[in-house]
Amino acid sequence: MIAANLPRIPTFEDWRAAARNMLAVLAKPEEIVWRTEGESDLFINAPTPNLKPITPAFVPRAFIETAGKAVLHNDPRRFALLYRVLWRLQQNRALLEDAADKDIVQLYALVKAVRRDEHKMHAFVRFKEVVGADGPRYIAWFEPQHHIVEETADFFVRRFTGMRWSIITPDASAHWDGKTLSFGPGGTRADVPAEDARDDDWRAYYESMFNPARLKVAAMKREMPKHYWRNMPETALIPDLIKSASTRTEDMVAATPSTPRKRAGVAHAKITPEDLSTRLEPIAGHAEAPASLEDLRRALQSCRACPLWRDATQAVPGEGVEHEPLLALVGEQPGDQEDLAGHPFVGPAGQVLNRALEAAGIDRGEIFVTNAVKHFKHEPRGKRRLHKRPVTGEVEICRWWVANELKLVRPRLVVALGATALQSLSTHRGTLEAARAQTIKTREGAPLRATVHPSYLLRLPDEDAKVEQFHRFVADLKEAKSAAERMLRAA
Ligand code: SF4
Repeated sequence: MIAANLPRIPTFEDWRAAARNMLAVLAKPEEIVWRTEGESDLFINAPTPNLKPITPAFVPRAFIETAGKAVLHNDPRRFALLYRVLWRLQQNRALLEDAADKDIVQLYALVKAVRRDEHKMHAFVRFKEVVGADGPRYIAWFEPQHHIVEETADFFVRRFTGMRWSIITPDASAHWDGKTLSFGPGGTRADVPAEDARDDDWRAYYESMFNPARLKVAAMKREMPKHYWRNMPETALIPDLIKSASTRTEDMVAATPSTPRKRAGVAHAKITPEDLSTRLEPIAGHAEAPASLEDLRRALQSCRACPLWRDATQAVPGEGVEHEPLLALVGEQPGDQEDLAGHPFVGPAGQVLNRALEAAGIDRGEIFVTNAVKHFKHEPRGKRRLHKRPVTGEVEICRWWVANELKLVRPRLVVALGATALQSLSTHRGTLEAARAQTIKTREGAPLRATVHPSYLLRLPDEDAKVEQFHRFVADLKEAKSAAERMLRAA
């Protein structure tokens, strides 16, 4: 027998150097004992020789790539398996393509498990903020299944370039100071704070994304294996959410108040802003500004200024605090559930908004919430009614209603949720992103800030992006609240 000695957690380069030595002495796979630092073997004490093979070995690129991943697995038998495949490749150059070969099946299973663990680490690392004399630093405790800290570190550098962070795991740690990435020894859970304010954001995000009607426990556990739960603040909610799922689904069904109006089959006519005065004439005698919100709501139901009323169940006015609230939030238009219920933001996007408001420390009962367009624009798709974005002419005409609502309500600050609301409320013609993080003005001169519409978060296909964007959304809402409070104090 011959010993192949490796460090405690070998890299691919460590294994490759040892494997080259074994090939040099033509050691057969069954003659080698692979051992890592700290392991002892009473019968084998020989040091690993430092030799070069007489004839160059056949090592295809596909093997290097596959072995580079497989060596990160925590199965101690991986070193022997990799050498066996390398040895057999010298006799059979097409071995890697043999999907039925037992060694190849095992090799790809290791690679798959490592890739899955990497993907979960990308998604499930949760940072806690630690504020020191030199500013904030973010620290996360994570327990990967395999040795993937170095392999995944670049992902976190790209994702959190502007943050100083450390990820501590039992075997290794990664540190980014804003310029340099370094690695160190592992640590313990006690190295990382147990709780911070961001944990509430995670819980709020998870609760808002949880759809009881679509709950499949087995699929959920496959996506979020229980092994990772103990280090994710939001998972504490899962048992209760599962328990209450069927009741919540029944409540959602019972809350549906009516059936949608049937489509009239009339094509939407193109509208230009110049049509505005003519189109507003038939609004139930309210071409002049309504004197009260009650007046406005009554008149709104008879608005025929654009074709959107035809296919909608009802117009949906704004609601909330009606006299000088701190904030008025303006979305795009009612969705399917809002159209049926007659209230703004009660559907899935409303759920996300509620959670974000909660995370931002804003009580929905203390603000005003409305939309830029008052009727639900949609197109049929089977039995479903799919949201359709209102065109500029429709937004311009309906702006008469939202402008009058805001004039009557007089919020300290208006928040445009999404590009349509921003277009309706302001003369800003750049991107939504360009308008974010600053206070601009509505066309009427009121302070205005902009952020995304909550439905944008629901549409993002990537879970990581959803989480990141939810945090940005919450941060925008917090900033809007602070700006409004500053204005209130200064008044
Ligand atoms: S969408 Fe607005 S402008 Fe068009 S009919 Fe409805 S309330 Fe009137």
